[in-house]
Amino acid sequence: MTSPFADLLAANRSYTEGFALGDLTGLAAKGLGVLTCIDSRIEPLSMLGLQPGDAKIVRNAGAQLTDDALRSLVVAAQRLSVRRIMVVAHTDCAMSPTEAAVRADVERLRSSAEMPAGTIVAGFFYDVKTGLLHPIDD
Ligand SMILES: [Zn+2]
Repeated sequence: MTSPFADLLAANRSYTEGFALGDLTGLAAKGLGVLTCIDSRIEPLSMLGLQPGDAKIVRNAGAQLTDDALRSLVVAAQRLSVRRIMVVAHTDCAMSPTEAAVRADVERLRSSAEMPAGTIVAGFFYDVKTGLLHPIDD
């Protein structure tokens, strides 16, 4: 019986043939953390002009700042060179996030006692029809 993951393992073997990321460190080269949704229409690196190694990406349904997402972003800021964080919700999301919810998550990140002083946090909405990011004013 063929593994339901056989196609993916075959693709991975092909991936290793040109693998060039082995010298990356675990630090975020661009000092960026991104919290965004699991939606398959979102390509966090591409939409921001980034490469592997540039940013720490945290994803969950609705780009919500859950306790675990907060923990991951705090670790990224404390230990992995993250100095600025984008909270990126999107249009046509199954979780129907609001700008108010994104603002509240941005504020929670900014006011977290564990977040290193000086960490910059901002909220955005990503338009899945155009690919454009819209800043959410606070
Ligand atoms: Zn979504």
